[in-house]
Amino acid sequence: MKVIVIGAGLGGLALANGLRGTGVDVAVYERDASPVTRGQGYRLHLGDVGIDALASVLAPERSAAFLAAAHTPTPRFVRLDPALRVLEERDFGGRHLSVDRQELRDALLADVKGLVTYGRRLTAFQAEGEQVIARFDDGTTATGEVLVGADGAGSAVRRQYLPHARVVGTGLTQLYGKIPREPAEDLDHVFSAVTGPCHRVVGIAHTRDYATLSFSARTKDLPPEPHLLRSLVMEMTSGWHPRIRRMLADWREIFPLALRTSVPIAPWDTTRVTLLGDAAHTMSPAGGAGANLALRDAASLAAALAGGRPLIPELRSYEREMLRSGFAAVRACAADGARILGQDPLPAGDEAEPVA
Ligand SMILES: Cc1cc2nc3c(=O)[nH]c(=O)nc-3n(C[C@H](O)[C@H](O)[C@H](O)COP(=O)(O)OP(=O)(O)OC[C@H]3O[C@@H](n4cnc5c(N)ncnc54)[C@H](O)[C@@H]3O)c2cc1C
Repeated sequence: MKVIVIGAGLGGLALANGLRGTGVDVAVYERDASPVTRGQGYRLHLGDVGIDALASVLAPERSAAFLAAAHTPTPRFVRLDPALRVLEERDFGGRHLSVDRQELRDALLADVKGLVTYGRRLTAFQAEGEQVIARFDDGTTATGEVLVGADGAGSAVRRQYLPHARVVGTGLTQLYGKIPREPAEDLDHVFSAVTGPCHRVVGIAHTRDYATLSFSARTKDLPPEPHLLRSLVMEMTSGWHPRIRRMLADWREIFPLALRTSVPIAPWDTTRVTLLGDAAHTMSPAGGAGANLALRDAASLAAALAGGRPLIPELRSYEREMLRSGFAAVRACAADGARILGQDPLPAGDEAEPVA
């Protein structure tokens, strides 16, 4: 059996790792020209779900080395006011790691480089009997028995396959950048949020080598011109604690992100085309869960495809669980996003009307 994977992000590469050596042939197609075309962003939180999935798809020595090098923050969420008084503390059970996204992507790529073709953007696919043909923007095609859309929040596979599935804005934009670890040393938790008026929030999270600092606000309050953003953030936080102001003055490599969420839908009729990760269930980053679930989807799908059991029932049970856990996280992240960040409520989905 040949599996065509669209997207060499975290989930697509995890799937390729999980299928390596199982006898299932796998080919990954990525729109970026190379693995270094685009910055991968900064820190990611990994909990039990992501750690277990990584350990199940990566070669044992690679996962051991990656996990051993990861940073372990205090397993706690802390919310403070702009004077840095603690408003809320929540302790978490389980394992929690803070990893650099680029390092994670590199670890996932290391053993499957030869399976990835860069510079191929999927434009459409077509099912023909027991085969699926993927078409790319350079005019080339690839054919397999299964097509997996691991192509992220703007998934071209999802847009063609499930045109009723929606990804919507949350009303929020986040500016994301790095600061040195030292000025925020006492805020080395899974996540620290300093919440001010008008849904303006500074978020801090450490990795081994740096801390990330994010500033989120209602999109309408942030200008589209990137060069105005830093001075505007300084203005919006003018009465905040001097330590926050010093961290903002040290802020570097800042980029804006419009935060989006999927709207839960009912399971669809299973075919040889399926989805994983953000392509199926992108969510607000408020819960730090999307990458964990993309990794888990990949591990589950690899097990379903490599088990040698009848394909469609295996894909159907994979999709049921992927949607159940994925959309539960979409809802939980939307609720946290509304409470902590001021995210818009999640629009109603179509789950009450199953597609068959
Ligand atoms: C600010 C922020 C912070 C976050 N923090 C966390 C966190 O701490 N913990 C956590 O678990 N999650 C976090 N997330 C969520 C996490 O980043 C995503 O859930 C995760 O990257 C999804 O992985 P994926 O493989 O599904 O998609 P992606 O990693 O987005 O990969 C998709 C790949 O598909 C490629 N592609 C797209 N279209 C095409 C096409 N047509 N043809 C070919 N290739 C294509 C893309 O170039 C990309 O390489 C955060 C998200 C944001 C925005």
